[in-house]
Amino acid sequence: MGYVQEVISELVRKNPGEKEFHQAATEVLESLELVCDRHPEYQKQALLERLTEPDRAILFRVPWVDDKGQVHVNKGYRVQFNNAIGPYKGGLRLHPSVNLGIIKFLGFEQIFKNSLTGLPIGGGKGGSDFDPKGKSDREVMAFCQSFMTELYKYIGADVDVPAGDIGVGAREIGYLYGQYKRITGLYEGVLTGKGLTYGGSLARTEATGYGLIYFMDALLKSKGNSFAGKRVVVSGAGNVAIYATEKATQLGAKVVAMCDSTGWIYDEAGIDLAAVKQIKEVERKRLSEYKNYRPQSEYHTDGVIWDVPCDIALPCATQNELHLEHAQTLIKNGVIAVGEGANMPTTPDAAHAFQKAGVLYAPGKAANAGGVATSALEMTQNSMRMSWTFEEVDAKLQGIMVNIFHQVDEAAKAYGQADNFIVGANVAGFTKVANAMMAHGIV
Ligand code: NDP
Repeated sequence: MGYVQEVISELVRKNPGEKEFHQAATEVLESLELVCDRHPEYQKQALLERLTEPDRAILFRVPWVDDKGQVHVNKGYRVQFNNAIGPYKGGLRLHPSVNLGIIKFLGFEQIFKNSLTGLPIGGGKGGSDFDPKGKSDREVMAFCQSFMTELYKYIGADVDVPAGDIGVGAREIGYLYGQYKRITGLYEGVLTGKGLTYGGSLARTEATGYGLIYFMDALLKSKGNSFAGKRVVVSGAGNVAIYATEKATQLGAKVVAMCDSTGWIYDEAGIDLAAVKQIKEVERKRLSEYKNYRPQSEYHTDGVIWDVPCDIALPCATQNELHLEHAQTLIKNGVIAVGEGANMPTTPDAAHAFQKAGVLYAPGKAANAGGVATSALEMTQNSMRMSWTFEEVDAKLQGIMVNIFHQVDEAAKAYGQADNFIVGANVAGFTKVANAMMAHGIV
């Protein structure tokens, strides 16, 4: 058995039950086989073993009181995976499905994504199995305050800088920041995704979705193509999905379908994004409401959004949402490109089916890096005690995403794997972290 396969089987043995972490680590490590063949010193230094073992995983109890006076207890997590190239950086996810394996998969992916941005940020991730859905603002505040009362011990502007993810938007970041400031007395850039009145960056809200489209635009242009006139399907109706839809539409595409966790909408005339924003961002309701704005649209609770024929598919909801049979349907319907706004939304067999069929397939760690890149720009602005305009941040974001595309493209070609953007992203993200780890000695 070769070095990489040995590391994978030990990782599976040592981390039983963490299936999403196994999946993410296997995908990355298998693409690094070529690199390890060229660098035998990595095996001697146990570089992959060190890379796949987090620096630390912090697990804690989060007790909070609901509006009726009942006490609840949730699990809290922060996995600080790797800080070879900068302070730990990665979001907090609040969703009932959260467990250690999911946080470790996300934290591991974050190492490579953050490296690809070219900015000095390491990888981490955190969250809780708390479900903010259906909770009052006071209950969400009670949870966030309790969560931060433990988390504050482990984070700091130069140590670990969490941000939002599923279930954590501006409201939650506000409550978390307020509690951090109250406990520590520090007014520092310890979280990103902050409100504009207290250190947030313009364009952070839009960054992941816009960044995805900038990346896909660079990819399409490299093949002499573009978004103009394309039919697009976007899964999700959250932060990433909404702003991917906005930018794709600005570039001349027509987004015809979106979904949330209970159903999907189809609007042949093109999604009315103002209606989706009102339903999801303002009223926090279900997409079934969309018909009230656009009576000619369709709302479905059966079937899947991937049955809708399209040129470009953008999975922007959650992990493992696009399976092999969905990929086969998309391919049959003539899809030319798939760009991951979410983290690991495509199962490995589906991703390989796309690659085999010649579909341009962009993995999330490259294509959705715009969010964390803009978070790093927020950290820079906080350190400088100044704010850039929307246009300045957006222009930097666009430059970063185009640069990520070229790094990924060139890394794939350098290893004889042209158009294999999985290999390109993993190799390009890994190289910088590996060089830093080698320089730091055995730590
Ligand atoms: P949000 O919570 O804002 O939105 C998630 C959306 O996906 C919601 O509309 C949700 O539905 C929907 N959804 C969740 N699970 C399912 C499911 N099983 N089937 C269909 N729809 C589902 O999260 P974000 O937009 O922030 O994050 C989406 C993805 O992007 C995640 O994988 C996240 O890790 C990744 N990501 C996010 C970044 C960011 O900056 N926000 C940065 C990089 C990656 P409902 O409305 O019903 O809850």
